[in-house]
Amino acid sequence: MKTAIKVIGVLQEAGFEAYMVGGAVRDFLLGQTPHDIDVASSASPQQVKTLFKRTVDTGIEHGTVLVLIDGEGIEVTTFRTEGNYSDNRRPDSVEFVQSLEEDLKRRDFTINAMAMTENLKIIDPFGGTEDLRNHIIRAVGEPDQRFQEDALRMLRAVRFSGQLDFSIEQRTLESIRRHASLIQAIAVERLKSEIDKIFANPRTARSMDYLGKTDLTAYLPAGKLFEMDWSRYQSSGKAVFGWFYLLHKNNRPFSEIKDYRFSNEDKRLIEKSLELAKLEFWDQWTFYYYAVDQLEMAAKASGKLLDPAAAKAELPIQSKSDLAASGREFMEWSGERSGPWLKVWIEKLEKLIVYGELKNDKELIKDWFVNEYHRHA
Ligand code: ATP
Ligand code: MG
Repeated sequence: MKTAIKVIGVLQEAGFEAYMVGGAVRDFLLGQTPHDIDVASSASPQQVKTLFKRTVDTGIEHGTVLVLIDGEGIEVTTFRTEGNYSDNRRPDSVEFVQSLEEDLKRRDFTINAMAMTENLKIIDPFGGTEDLRNHIIRAVGEPDQRFQEDALRMLRAVRFSGQLDFSIEQRTLESIRRHASLIQAIAVERLKSEIDKIFANPRTARSMDYLGKTDLTAYLPAGKLFEMDWSRYQSSGKAVFGWFYLLHKNNRPFSEIKDYRFSNEDKRLIEKSLELAKLEFWDQWTFYYYAVDQLEMAAKASGKLLDPAAAKAELPIQSKSDLAASGREFMEWSGERSGPWLKVWIEKLEKLIVYGELKNDKELIKDWFVNEYHRHA
């Protein structure tokens, strides 16, 4: 916060207004450390850029410039309102304005529509402080209009309910239910980013309850799957665990959620963990074959009380490259050329070593191989 106050100081010196705004003010009043601090200012993006040495144009068309200072990044956004919303997701235009209040008015919820001066004085035209005290999420202005402008706000309300452990105010809630179908206008990346946050916070069940109550589940990709019992879900802090849990508990394959466009890495993690969670018995080979993150997710979801990393560490080898003898020796000892047979024999050896039936020692492996190979030849 020291850095944000410094940035505000520079802007004020130059004759502009500047305040901390949005989530940072909310988190500050809740006694939580905000993960990033946004500053709103009457200075135009060009003016901000001339006042600071190092800046990045992160969203200059929306008035946002990232100021790099003291090893931190502070987003400075010019006071703005938003023009008409004709598509339920994005303003047709943004317009810079001179007053802070106009800027706060465009924000989604009262608790996110407060500003704070460099002396920590709160500016709160919509009753955000009181809603914060009462743990309430309430749309700024007319909820119907606000959700018609940007339908993502409905999912944000649901996300904040879990993140903050707050209730959604009655009129806001009813409005979401009436407008739930508009969520279909929102790009899947924005949906996923909110759902990721629902899965990563410790009160997923609360958000999921609202997701069903508001009927948003009827219009989200794979939405019906979300209507399950979340009471025993324990977030691992990682969103991907939530997606895996969703499929695991519904007994569905990855393809059901592919519309959300996962990275290949997350897709593989989810698929492998689903596979693992279906295995009745885990033995040394299971620990050898699957990666630690896959084992951890599957263990957590199926209530297995074990430490996969420790179980893995106890294995005689971690991968093929740890084998004391391998393809090259097999060819030498058999006098055969490379071919598909090698793969079969390497796997045989891996299993013996992993199960502790043969020591990972070159001479012992040779004895075993020569013996077995000639018996099969
Ligand atoms: P967190 O960082 O914990 O997710 P946040 O409140 O900072 O919470 P951001 O998405 O970072 O959320 O947005 C910053 C601020 O911008 C919000 O506090 C809110 O004032 C405003 N805002 C963000 N998205 C919207 C939206 N879709 N409609 C209206 N205002 C929004
Ligand atoms: Mg934020």
